[in-house]
Amino acid sequence: MSVVDLITKKREGNELSESEIDLLVEGYTAGRIPDYQMAALCMAIFYRGMTAEETRRLTRSMVHSGAVLDLSSLSGAKIGKHSTGGVGDKTSLVLAPLLAAAGAYVPMISGRGLGFSGGTLDKLESIPGFKVNLTLSEFQSVLKKAGCAIIGQTSEIAPADRKLYALRDVTGTVESIPLICASIMSKKLAEGLDGLVLDVKTGEGAFMTTFERASDLARNLVDIGNGMGTKTVALITDMNQPLGLAVGNALEVQEAIETLKGQGPEDFTHLCEKLATRMLTLATSPRQVDGSRSRIADSLNSGKALQKLAEMIEAQGGNPRVIDDLSLLPKATHQTVIVSEKNGYVVRLNARLVGKASMALGAGREMIDSKIDLSVGVMLHKKIGDPVKTGEPLCTVCYNQKSKFHAVHPSLLKAFEVKPARVEPPPLIKQIVE
Ligand code: URA
Repeated sequence: MSVVDLITKKREGNELSESEIDLLVEGYTAGRIPDYQMAALCMAIFYRGMTAEETRRLTRSMVHSGAVLDLSSLSGAKIGKHSTGGVGDKTSLVLAPLLAAAGAYVPMISGRGLGFSGGTLDKLESIPGFKVNLTLSEFQSVLKKAGCAIIGQTSEIAPADRKLYALRDVTGTVESIPLICASIMSKKLAEGLDGLVLDVKTGEGAFMTTFERASDLARNLVDIGNGMGTKTVALITDMNQPLGLAVGNALEVQEAIETLKGQGPEDFTHLCEKLATRMLTLATSPRQVDGSRSRIADSLNSGKALQKLAEMIEAQGGNPRVIDDLSLLPKATHQTVIVSEKNGYVVRLNARLVGKASMALGAGREMIDSKIDLSVGVMLHKKIGDPVKTGEPLCTVCYNQKSKFHAVHPSLLKAFEVKPARVEPPPLIKQIVE
C-alpha cells in the first residue's frame, strides 16, 4: 500500500497493521515521508483514534526508531518516573535521589518547560555548572556512580518522537490520546526500565484539565507499559493549585533541596513520599508497600537522599556546595509581596494563572528556543483552605524587570480567590491506576 492509501485507511476509521505502522514510522524518521503526509495521518488519528493494539504497535515502532538502553550491567532495579507536567512540579529533583538512596537506579530523560508548565532540565540548569546534555555513555556512568542521572532528550532515543512531536505541535494534533501515549511511552520504554510510575496531572494547571481525560490517558499509558513488559502504575494527582510553594526554576531547586532536608512544604513532601513508595514497591513486590514506605522515610530522614543529590550534581559537572549554600543559586534582584485585599479563606488558587505569571516574568518560554531567566518566579504564602486577613501576604514575586512585575500583578491577585467560608484543599491523589 502507498502512504496515501494508509492515510485514507486511517481516515476511514480502519486499523493499521504492524507492518503498515512500521513503514510509516521508519519512512518518516528517515525523511522519505514528507511532513505534509505525516500531518494528514496525525489529523486522521486525531479524529478516528486508534485501538489499544494499534497504539501499542505505534509505540513499539517509535521505541525502535532509536537506541534502547541496556542497563542490565547494573545490579539493581531500574525505576523511572514521568509526570505529564504542571506548575511547581519539582518532584523529579527529589524522587531521583530518594530512590537512589534506597538502592534503586533512576535513569531519567527529561524535558524543558514549554508554556505555563515548567521543565526539569531548566530547573537543574539553575545549579551552577550542571550539564544536562550528556552522551548516553556519560549518562550511564553517572547512573552507575550516583544511582541517578537526569539528562535531556538525545537524538539517539526515540528519534521518531522528536520529529513527530515537533510536527504535532504546529498542526493542532497534540491532544490525541493515542499519539500522546505513543510519544510518552516510546521515550520511557527506551530507558531500559524495570518499572515506571506515571504522575498524570489533572486540573487548571495541567495538560489534561478534566479528570475524565486524565483517567483515560492514565489507563492507556498503564496498559501500554504493562503490555510491553515494563511494570507500570499511574497516580492521577491534583494540579488545580500549584504543587508546593515555589514556582520558577531556581526557586524550585531551593524547595527541592529543603524538602530533602525535611523542611519542604507538606503537600509536596507528601506527594514525593507517595510516588517514591510506589516506585520502590515496583522494584520489590506489591506486598512490600510498608517496607518500601519505611525505606523511603529512612532515605529522607538519614540525609542519604540529600547526599545522593550532591553526588548526582557533582557527577554532572555542577557545584554540589549548592546543597549547603543556597545563595549559589541565581537570585532575582527584586522581591515584592502581594497582599490580600480582604479577610476570609483562600478557596481557589489558579495554577494556570500562577504558571503564566511566572512564565511572563521570564521563567518559561513561549517558543522552544526562547531564552529564560532562571532566577525569577513566585513564592506562595497561602494555599487553598488557608485563612487570610486584609494586608496579609498572598505571595512574593521575584523579578528583574519592574515592567514585568506590573504586567503580572493583576493576574496574580486574580489567581487567589478569597471568600468568607473555608473549603477543604483538593485531595492531592485522586486515583491510582494499576
Ligand atoms: N508529552 C510528551 O512527551 N508527548 C506528548 O505527546 C505530550 C506530552
